[in-house]
Amino acid sequence: MTNQLLATTENANNQNSQNSQYTSLNDPEIVNVVAHINEEHLDELLGFLSVFTSLSTAELDRVDAQITDIYAEGIAIQTRPKSPENQPTGAQDNSLHDQIFFINFATPISQLDDLQAQYILLKQRADKKLGKKTIKLTKQVFDVQNSYRVSKNMLRLELSISSLDDAQSSDINGATISTSVPINEAGYAYLFDLEHNLTTNALMTDSIDGNEADDNAVNDSEKNNVCPTRPHCYYTLRKAWHTDDGIRAWVDVFLHGDTSGGNWAAALKTGETVVTKREFPEKVEHLRDGQAVLIVDETSMPTAARLLELWNNPKPPLIICVTQDADDQSYFDTVKMRSSIDNKIDCDIQSNSNDHFTVLPIVTNQANSGSDLATLIDSTLGDYLTDNPLQIDKAWGALEANTAKALRPLLRERLTLSRTDVVVKVYWRHD
Ligand SMILES: Cc1cc2nc3c(=O)[nH]c(=O)nc-3n(C[C@H](O)[C@H](O)[C@H](O)COP(=O)(O)OP(=O)(O)OC[C@H]3O[C@@H](n4cnc5c(N)ncnc54)[C@H](O)[C@@H]3O)c2cc1C
Repeated sequence: MTNQLLATTENANNQNSQNSQYTSLNDPEIVNVVAHINEEHLDELLGFLSVFTSLSTAELDRVDAQITDIYAEGIAIQTRPKSPENQPTGAQDNSLHDQIFFINFATPISQLDDLQAQYILLKQRADKKLGKKTIKLTKQVFDVQNSYRVSKNMLRLELSISSLDDAQSSDINGATISTSVPINEAGYAYLFDLEHNLTTNALMTDSIDGNEADDNAVNDSEKNNVCPTRPHCYYTLRKAWHTDDGIRAWVDVFLHGDTSGGNWAAALKTGETVVTKREFPEKVEHLRDGQAVLIVDETSMPTAARLLELWNNPKPPLIICVTQDADDQSYFDTVKMRSSIDNKIDCDIQSNSNDHFTVLPIVTNQANSGSDLATLIDSTLGDYLTDNPLQIDKAWGALEANTAKALRPLLRERLTLSRTDVVVKVYWRHD
């Protein structure tokens, strides 16, 4: 393979094993980052190849891709022809061979910490060219209106944004402040800035220095809010809707002990502001047709609930809902699936579907992590399918990292589905 694939304006070139022309970052962490990207972000790598190289969609369908290294100037992605049994039916391929492509960053990086910003820029460029929704680095400021429990351990934050602010502006640091909140999107996630409330709380408590705060002056949760061990945390937009004076939104936070995110949420008071600094859409487009199974734990129940409310598929999904506590299974009790009548109008599809979804509960009495949980989920699904013969065409789930990793191949094998039809995201990591 000798052809120079693209001009530099297209961001990529064929590497031809000329690694020496790129600058090594000499960071032992790279191996873990590479493994993570290969495990979690394959679709993004394929998107980069599709946009920044001359590989056609048909060729991309016939190759596996993986990142092999990260350099100061960009990333190296290797493609390999899929094994014959994984080739699309009818594909006749004699031309593909192993290739390595180099995708250039917009600006070279000097350390691994700078990778995220450059990777996001690549993703934004690729998604834009592919006409896909993408990650946004915008800042939004919401007002806290209320908070209350919706199940034993699920705290609902009710937030608002005034329509008076319904325009884009910049803050003092030049970051874009946006007020567009997606009303009709399931799984849209915001990165909440936990430190923003550290700052505002500290101001309100007479400029307590986080390091020297008098332990008696604040209760435990406030103390943790003053010193969050993590500066930010992703939470999903459970639902948003227009009101007379702007937009209201729910964000449901699973409280699981004394943790940064939970303490932050539990300490929020009406009238305070919360700030988000990044947002991105969930990968759920594949659920528009076919029989779907949704596999959730407490962190992804909000995504599944919104998916149901916006369900745009004549077949109701099967839901596997794993909770530590039996009392959190009630979360779905008040969720109404979008009516099949709406679906028929929208999709112009004749169907005998009904508005009822089935929830298969799994209560574990422990934190829902690890590969054993994947085995339990897989066998529960297997037992259900034995009793209720159903052809599952699509799967979506979001779970703990090790559970997700173990579950993906189990589902693909049990349901004989391709990678693109089985989307199991990582929503959290067990320490
Ligand atoms: C795209 C996306 C959307 C998300 N949406 C939501 C949402 O809507 N609601 C929501 O509650 N979460 C959601 N999460 C998950 C949330 O961001 C993580 O659970 C986050 O780690 C919680 O932060 P924390 O401060 O509570 O715990 P961490 O600081 O992450 O961890 C502290 C300790 O708690 C443990 N831990 C962390 N999470 C869990 C858990 N879920 N169950 C048991 N133990 C845990 C860790 O192993 C660690 O020991 C989402 C994550 C992503 C990536």
